[in-house]
Amino acid sequence: MKFLDSRTIYWKLIKQKFEKPSSYSKFTDMFGVFDDEKWEKIYMLPFRCSSNTRIRNFQFKITHNILYLNEKLYIFNKTDTELCYFCNHQKESQNHFFYDCNVVRRFWEEVFLTFHCIFENINIEEHIVLLGIIDEGKQLANLIIILGKQVLYETKMNNGELTINMLKSKIKVIENIEKKIATQKNKMLYHLMKWEKYLNM
Ligand SMILES: [Zn+2]
Repeated sequence: MKFLDSRTIYWKLIKQKFEKPSSYSKFTDMFGVFDDEKWEKIYMLPFRCSSNTRIRNFQFKITHNILYLNEKLYIFNKTDTELCYFCNHQKESQNHFFYDCNVVRRFWEEVFLTFHCIFENINIEEHIVLLGIIDEGKQLANLIIILGKQVLYETKMNNGELTINMLKSKIKVIENIEKKIATQKNKMLYHLMKWEKYLNM
């Protein structure tokens, strides 16, 4: 019998249970039709770029459009405003909050500039920020994008001020955790390959 790893099982479950997640039509409206292979890569992306459950779950919520922000919370009477935490001007939808907002756009510009050796020729685009980069060998860039979105979300939840320093420390912490795991599992070579561009910065 063929051995199935957790990623394969997860993908089979998604296919059986949801066939196409409800977010599919939303993203199709936004970005055009993706074939099944592209969707599989998009849904598998958080599993490929991190072993951290919190990071994976967070990106899962985004790709399934179930991360509740002010626009939805307002409908359920869970918040006083439907407006964006950062600009206080537009409705806080998922794509506004993570990409469209002027404040957020400036944050991404700083992120892509600071880590240009990791992003290389990748531009800041809505589908990149929301769903990730599906090209091979972009695990670290994808991880940084997810961590960047976590920073945006946590800044709002903690009523804080948006700064790239929070992202820099998050990346440092994750690299350290992954290094420890890699040492225990004798996978230092993989770790160094994944993190090479960051460690050489
Ligand atoms: Zn905004």
